[in-house]
Amino acid sequence: MVTTITCKELEKSYLGDGVTTKAVQNINLTFAKGEFTAIIGPSGSGKSTLLSLLGTLDHPTAGKLHYDGEDVFKRSKNRIADFRFEEIGFIFQQFHLLPTLTALENILSPLFARKVAYKKEQRAKEVLEQVGLLDKMNSLPSQLSGGQQQRVAIARAIVHKPSWLLADEPTGNLDTETGQLIFELLQSLNKQEGCGILFVTHDPLLAAKADRVITMKDGLVISDERGETI
Ligand code: ADP
Repeated sequence: MVTTITCKELEKSYLGDGVTTKAVQNINLTFAKGEFTAIIGPSGSGKSTLLSLLGTLDHPTAGKLHYDGEDVFKRSKNRIADFRFEEIGFIFQQFHLLPTLTALENILSPLFARKVAYKKEQRAKEVLEQVGLLDKMNSLPSQLSGGQQQRVAIARAIVHKPSWLLADEPTGNLDTETGQLIFELLQSLNKQEGCGILFVTHDPLLAAKADRVITMKDGLVISDERGETI
């Protein structure tokens, strides 16, 4: 089980039309095990890029990412993919559920062709129950509301018992009340499952409820505050 994420001088640049855009730069952060952090900032400030780098979905142009002291990007591509499966769950603004699969099948999908030390279907039902949707296990995504679809996506993200859950605007497609309920669900999973959460949001009111709030602007971290100082 991973303990901490540390990044040092992390940078991601894009070259287009001869101009280099630094999507994120000079990122030096440590996330302790189980920490619930909100990442906030205006559109284009680098939040999604940072999350992708921290989740190993993207490679940095410069800098290092350590998970529990190990330099993750020194691994081979396949071993990075295995590491990602073992340690990280992702949730996105668009729920990305497979439309022809039931809720239960969607949750089982990351476990396909993977060897795990638990009974897959039993685990999938357990997480469906945690998100309050056991009675919808045979429903297709089209038969579920937006909030219910995001709950299924959350269940799918935690089914393999990741140590970190990375959420990119998970409430962005939901009304305020449903967004609040999704946030509360993530808070309770943070406590129950012990997984750390990195939560990108535009909503300062939601962010203020996290243990820690990181604010980004123009690719830089401009503030990093713990709960007691907010
Ligand atoms: P946010 O999530 O805060 O809206 P992003 O991380 O999506 O910000 O983007 C940060 C900056 O990097 C923006 O200027 C964006 O245009 C640029 N950017 C992001 N992805 C790419 C890409 N694939 N190619 C070129 N520029 C990109």
